[in-house]
Amino acid sequence: NLSDKLDKALHVLKGHGQITEVNVAETLKEVRRALVDADVNFKTAKNFTNEVKEKALGQNVLTALKPGELMVKLVKDELTELMGGDAEGINLSGNPSVILMSGLQGSGKTTFSGKLANYLKTKKTKNPLLVACDVYRPAAIDQLHVVGDQIGVEVFSDREEKNPVAISQKAIAYAKENGHNVVIIDTAGRLAVDEAMMNEISDIHKAIEPQETLFVVDSMTGQDAVNTAKAFNDTLNFDGVILTKLDGDTRGGAAISIKSVVNKPIKFIGTGEKMEAIDVFYPSRMADRILGMGDVVSLVERAQEQYDEEEARKLQKKIAKNQFGFDDFLNQIQQVKKMGNMKDLIGMIPGAGKAMKDIDIDDDAFKHIEAIIHSMTPEERSTPSLINASRKRRIGKGSGTSVTQVNQLLKQFDQMSKMMKMMQGGGGKKMMQMMRG
Ligand code: GDP
Ligand code: MG
Repeated sequence: NLSDKLDKALHVLKGHGQITEVNVAETLKEVRRALVDADVNFKTAKNFTNEVKEKALGQNVLTALKPGELMVKLVKDELTELMGGDAEGINLSGNPSVILMSGLQGSGKTTFSGKLANYLKTKKTKNPLLVACDVYRPAAIDQLHVVGDQIGVEVFSDREEKNPVAISQKAIAYAKENGHNVVIIDTAGRLAVDEAMMNEISDIHKAIEPQETLFVVDSMTGQDAVNTAKAFNDTLNFDGVILTKLDGDTRGGAAISIKSVVNKPIKFIGTGEKMEAIDVFYPSRMADRILGMGDVVSLVERAQEQYDEEEARKLQKKIAKNQFGFDDFLNQIQQVKKMGNMKDLIGMIPGAGKAMKDIDIDDDAFKHIEAIIHSMTPEERSTPSLINASRKRRIGKGSGTSVTQVNQLLKQFDQMSKMMKMMQGGGGKKMMQMMRG
């Protein structure tokens, strides 16, 4: 019906449904820049944008209802997938369940041990035991006791014992005797990856066979975080990653790089120094953060608007002056063809509704239409009423089609033109307002 047709026509005139390949490429370039700014390594970012581009073209972003939005969605979905789908929990199946913390000094292991104990105690009604295995600094043992007191969780320590393997074994025995069903082992780290540290954590790991080995990493360390993660994963084959210090202005791109290098889930994030500053990791939320969503959305929209407004303005002017001709028609066809989806042309041509919907549109049909238009003189294209019987015969011959086919196209075009005139005249000012959106 008419309102359907109007909808479709307005759809184009209001500036939706048009985004160019250039736009897609430029947008993705911006996305790539944003990712690199957010500490994603360049190769990962490049692979990522290539992937999105393919998907964008595959899903006909160019002809989608709201390409900008679809584009942003594609980017977000891809990021989310890259960071690992649904949130993954902690394995608590053991009795006790032993959780081993690993990571560099200052990454936030002690703080996170406390946060996790507090989280498991309050959310999962567990009875955790914190274990101080940082034997090198007496202050580290004190620190864990302070944390334990703060959250009301018992801390196991042995200031005489200098072997962290022995401490952790004693602690597990203690937990079994005292009804602790979760044991969280806080270990020592060093400022950089070295053999002594790796040997120590590896020894503990082998001796106690934890249900869960977590790698704690400071998200502010950017690219270094990736190398550290790789080193720890090579040694421990850990189960999950904890990203700390995401409360700062760090954008969290390390999450993507780490995930793509070690392929282990990120399980929790730390968002502050307080014991409550722990969150389950949600890839989609992190994707928002990394993209600085607002930025990218507005970026895409701006690029699209500029293009759309200009095109819509031109088209509107032509319609107003009753100058929409076969050249414009051809232009529309070629644009859509470049985008790859023939059927969508129907929705793109101003005024095309049911009249053309019933016609079976395929590549050949377009070839004919294009051939016919190409065989018209410029005058005929801008003033189709000039096309009389002898001109029809000439056009038919020139385009390798029949007079019937030429007539068919003229008729369709005529319907379209009427449609557009009606929109101009009938609705008057109100209609024009609608078209401007
Ligand atoms: P460890 O050496 O790995 O045990 O690291 P710590 O747990 O001692 O943390 C090192 C520093 O980072 C401390 O000052 C913590 O308060 C701080 N910290 C840990 N996690 C976070 C976090 O999520 N956000 C912020 N802002 N600071 C944190
Ligand atoms: Mg510590």
